[in-house]
Formats: sequence, C-alpha cells, structure tokens
Amino acid sequence: MLDKVLIANRSEIALRVVRACRELGVTSVAVYSDADEEALHVRHADEAVNIGPPPAGKSYLDVEAIIEAAEETGADAVHPGYGFLAENARFAAACRDAGLVFIGPSAEAIEKMGNKSAARRLAEEAGVPVVPGSEESASADAAVETAEEIGYPVMVKAAAGGGGRGIRVAEGEEELRKAFQVAKREAESAFGDGSIYLEKFLAGPHHVEVQVMADHEGNVIHLYERECSMQRRRQKVLEEAPSPGISDDVRQQMCGAAVRLAREAGYANAGTVEFLVDGDDFYFIEMNTRIQVEHPVTEMLTGVDLVKEQILVASGEPLSLKQEDVPFVGHAMEFRINAEDPDQDFMPSPGEITSLEVPGGPGVRVDSAIYQGYTIPPFYDSMVGKLVVWGLDREEAIHRSGRALREYRLEGIKTTIPLHLRLLEDDAFRSGEYHTGY
Ligand code: ADP
Ligand code: ADP
Ligand code: MG
Repeated sequence: MLDKVLIANRSEIALRVVRACRELGVTSVAVYSDADEEALHVRHADEAVNIGPPPAGKSYLDVEAIIEAAEETGADAVHPGYGFLAENARFAAACRDAGLVFIGPSAEAIEKMGNKSAARRLAEEAGVPVVPGSEESASADAAVETAEEIGYPVMVKAAAGGGGRGIRVAEGEEELRKAFQVAKREAESAFGDGSIYLEKFLAGPHHVEVQVMADHEGNVIHLYERECSMQRRRQKVLEEAPSPGISDDVRQQMCGAAVRLAREAGYANAGTVEFLVDGDDFYFIEMNTRIQVEHPVTEMLTGVDLVKEQILVASGEPLSLKQEDVPFVGHAMEFRINAEDPDQDFMPSPGEITSLEVPGGPGVRVDSAIYQGYTIPPFYDSMVGKLVVWGLDREEAIHRSGRALREYRLEGIKTTIPLHLRLLEDDAFRSGEYHTGY
C-alpha cells in the first residue's frame, strides 16, 4: 500500500484527494503557490510545500518543482487531480523516472489518448463508432477536400485540445479555411500543438460519457454514464446521471463500448469515455485519462469512492468490485459553482468571501475549498465548488437541488448559483430533452 501521496493540484480536487488519503490511512502532501498559502487544501493536508509564484506555469505546471517537492517529503506517489498536469504524458513519465507512482494510467496510455485524432483510430480498432471525420489534415486544402467528402457543416478540432478550446464550426469552404487557421493558432498557443482534424458537425447531440475503472490485472469495469449536455462554450455547466435522454439499450451498448476501448488501450486507473448521442446512434469523441470534475455524480449514484479506488489500484490492488456488483440507485446531479457573474456575460468575480452558509440535509454533498474570510485568487480556474445532490428519482433530485441551491448563501463575490436556479425552472431541462446546442 502507498504510504505518502503528493497532490499536484489545488482547490476542491486537492482537498478531495486529501480526504481519500485520510480515509485510507495514507499521508498526504499538498503543494501550493504563493497565492494559495491560505488555501484549505494546504490546511487539511498532513504536510505542505510551497512550489513557487502564483502563475500556474511557475508552480502547478512546474514539473521539476513538483518532483522535487515529492522527493523532499519522501512521497511515494503523485495524484495529479484534473486540469494542470493531469493529462501530461511527460509528467507521468517524469514521476515514473523519479521512482514515484503516478496515480493514473501509464504515460503510454495518456499519450495514446492525448491526441484526439489518434484516439479516434484506436476507437475504430476497438469496434467503437466515431463521428464521421478525418485523420489529421495537413493543410487547409486537405481539410476542404475532407469536408467535401463528409459534407458540411463540419467541426474543426485541435488534436491536442481540451476544455472546449481549439474547436470551430464551418458551414462552407470559405468559413472552413478561416476556421482552420484560427483553431490552429489557438491550439498552438494553448497546447503547443496545432494539429487539426475534422468531424461532421452534429446538430444538437447529447454529450453522454461513461466512467470506467481498470486495475493492473486486466480487470475493466464501467460505472455507468453521466449526461453532460448542459454546456456553455462547450464546457459543462451541470451534469446528471442516469442520462434522461438515452434508452437502456443504448446505455448497455455505450458502456460496453467504453470497456472495450479501455481494454484496447491497455488502460489502468480511472478514465472517462466521451460520446455524442444522436437518437439511437452514439459516437466516440474522446477519452479523458484522469479523474473528472463531475466524478461525484457517479459516486452518489453507485456509492463507489472513485478517488480511493484510484489510490488502491495504483498501489497494485485489484478492483474492489466486479461489474455485476456495481450498485446504481436513484438520480444524481452536480452544479458547478463558479466565481462568475451570469448576468454580466460570466465575468470572473474573484475576491473575498465575506459570508458563507453551506447547504446540508438529506442527499446533499458539497465539494469545495472555500471558507468564510477566504479570498479567491484571480490566477486560476473560476470553479470554487460543486453542489452534488442525490434523490430517489429525477423529480426528487430536482426539488432537492432547488432547496439546496437556495440554502447556499455566498456573499462578497458573484456566483453561478442564480443561473442554476433558473435552469431548474427551465422547461427543456425539466423535460430532460436538452442537448449540447441548447
Ligand atoms: P471535465 O471533463 O472533468 O468536466 P473540463 O473539460 O471542464 O473537465 O476540464 C477540467 C479542467 O481542466 C478545466 O479547468 C479545463 O480548463 C482544464 N483542462 C481540460 N483539458 C485540458 C487540457 N488539455 N489542457 C489544459 N487544461 C485542460
Ligand atoms: P474537449 O476536448 O475540449 O472536451 P470534445 O471533443 O470533448 O472537446 O468536445 C467538447 C464539446 O463540443 C462536446 O461536448 C460537444 O458539445 C461539442 N462537440 C464536439 N464534437 C462535436 C461534433 N462533431 N458535433 C457537434 N458538437 C460537437
Ligand atoms: Mg471533452
């Protein structure tokens, strides 16, 4: 069993990992930038190491500083959380080379899936349907040729993309030539890799993803799906499970496809296989080789602690449960609470939290790393917490969510709580028929 885990992240996910470590009797080491001295993940971890100045490039993305902190504190493993270095194959390899267990898949598996165009190929080999599209397009001319084959509108996507960036839609040739250059430039600056591929643009599909978990003995299971179609700028706003938009038959097929793909990739640890669903057809779009923001939805639905499972698997333990033993009860929803003003075009709203009342009661879980008097620094992602709610059915989950969102009182900054309250009243959301174009 691992003894000491260094957490290469901040905010709520770092605290989430601290909690898993504590329950397992594993010592936790936090890292923090100068902007995070007062952060909750630092207060709760057993030990903490300062790794540099506020800009992420000089702290949370500094591979050498993080490995050094692990060596200094005698950690034997590293948990990367999500974002930052979580899907960086070079970081996973650097951990391994330093004799540290990387709590995630192998560097090779990350590499294989990290290029979204190459991942499509792997999916096809595993017999998993992909959106009609192309391999990487070397030039705008090549892209135009492909678009003529698959038909407009097309989606221009960065092979190295993530977080909804490096994606453009094109209705015709002229637009495509422009979109190709724009997406390429955006991807070069955001990901250091401007490779572009095309997909047929689907009008109003559902985004449904499957949680998988695999150990080092070749066991792979799925923990059902999450519906993530409520999006803004192709980033998730809220998530729920089970998906209200798919049949049992589609659910079975998608979960089976996700497991096949994980096997084909020689995958270990937690991962998510993302699909677009159009009627009864589903298409692979990408695999996220890490724990995801919305993993608590699955934890509420199945009762399985995914982060503890990650640590156990990384310790060399087999999966703690078999496919047929994965429970699945009720309905769960997650609301991302961002420090943004939904009435001012989601303008960031960092600053001091002058007053805080956190919801509780039946079926309510809050994953957050803020407290009264805490000042949200302006340097990082705007997500400050997640409200996760469980109910025996979707109707109960909706009523309970409204109740909990109203109990959530946060003063000093603007948040997306009012947006979520409006969404709960929205007909499209209520009907469960909302899609990514909504
Ligand atoms: P999830 O798929 O877990 O919902 P998101 O797509 O919202 O996660 O991404 C989680 C966090 O990681 C966000 O802050 C996002 O900006 C960041 N992120 C995701 N993919 C990448 C990437 N390839 N490079 C850099 N940051 C990323
Ligand atoms: P990222 O790596 O940034 O998460 P994804 O490939 O997962 O990018 O796509 C993000 C979102 O963009 C999807 O959830 C969906 O809303 C939209 N999208 C992606 N591909 C397509 C497509 N071919 N047609 C329509 N919408 C798409
Ligand atoms: Mg995605």
